[in-house]
Amino acid sequence: MKSFKIPKYYKSNLIKEIKEIRKEQDPRRKNFEPSILKLKNINIILPRHFGFCYGVENAVEITYNIIEKNKNKTIYLLSEMIHNPQVNEDLQKRGVKFIRTTKGEQLIPWSKIEQKDIVIIPAFGTTKEIMSILKNKKINYIKYDTTCPFVKKVWKKSENLSKDNHTIIIHGKHYHEETQATFSHTKKTPCVIIRDIKEAQILAKKIKNEISDEYFLNYFKNKMSSGFNPKKDLTKIGVVNQTTMIAEETEKISNFLKKTMQEKYKENIENHFADTRDTLCYATNENQKAIKEALKKNIDVSFVIGGFNSSNTINITKLCEIKSPAFLVKSEKDISEKEIKYYNLKKEKTEKVKFPDKRKIKNIVITSGASCPDSLMELLIKKIAKIFKEEIEEQKIYNQITKNYKKDLAIS
Ligand code: SF4
Repeated sequence: MKSFKIPKYYKSNLIKEIKEIRKEQDPRRKNFEPSILKLKNINIILPRHFGFCYGVENAVEITYNIIEKNKNKTIYLLSEMIHNPQVNEDLQKRGVKFIRTTKGEQLIPWSKIEQKDIVIIPAFGTTKEIMSILKNKKINYIKYDTTCPFVKKVWKKSENLSKDNHTIIIHGKHYHEETQATFSHTKKTPCVIIRDIKEAQILAKKIKNEISDEYFLNYFKNKMSSGFNPKKDLTKIGVVNQTTMIAEETEKISNFLKKTMQEKYKENIENHFADTRDTLCYATNENQKAIKEALKKNIDVSFVIGGFNSSNTINITKLCEIKSPAFLVKSEKDISEKEIKYYNLKKEKTEKVKFPDKRKIKNIVITSGASCPDSLMELLIKKIAKIFKEEIEEQKIYNQITKNYKKDLAIS
């Protein structure tokens, strides 16, 4: 895979060495066994894959390059470049201004943005409406577009489904920039956004005509294309998804909707349901497979580092929670010997809890989302080690992983 030039302070020697050793042993990225850092009293378990993905590194490289080469220009980003607070803070310190919040609230009026300014499109892409605002202002946004190619792939797939007259069902979070962008790029085609299996069940009830049009239209009010006609627009459907959803959830939704169409239409299901693969990106797939593999061990606690608005990071934390207590933190500063400040996924807010009983902890998973720099991962690993009065002796760890990483997996 292409390598990118990213600022030094986002890199970590410790993580780089570990990743390189693993890459050498497994260049085709087929082995999902975690790397285990065996310390005196605890094991730190790092999934095979974590941290900056292709799309994020690409966006980081382009954006820092733009900053470097355009010192006299005003540089705007449509919203956060990626969902990582430290990266976004650093960009703002360097003078980059954010036009909107991640929820779409306007921070800087469009009237202030001029043709001579630079406007960067973030990795999630943007909507056709915003593209046309920029076009009307004669701003060359194509030159500064960091939309991830894997997001564009979803747009392409939606386009193909629409050519075949399918209504597009997007499995995603309706407020997320990427889903908003995908939604807007499918606008000429009828489209509904569903968040989870519960919303798929409501959709299925309408397909089977078990609920009224009014109820359906009201429920999906802000999550469907305008002029959506439930009577004619739900006879032929295809599912795409936000690139960072949980693989099993999308599969469940897709299978459920296929079954619904089968029950309704009995024969010729291919005329009513597009049987296609999910549109999760490679990084989501790899990171989710890697964390699941790591969680096969006897894990006592997991720590995930990343932005609280990062979909892929939240989903990794959700997977960790299935196995043992899991804490999503913004930085190593959120953790002390006494307490953990973390993001409670169910309550969708930050909370504090006492640090779990250290005597009962042996195996600790530490990982990060696709938008988290490795330098922050390293700080977290070192902080956890310090709390357990352990020392990270880097050379010893490299030797362990080089020689025995397979053997080291036999932890109890
Ligand atoms: S998570 Fe996937 S789709 Fe999103 S930026 Fe990374 S590679 Fe692209």
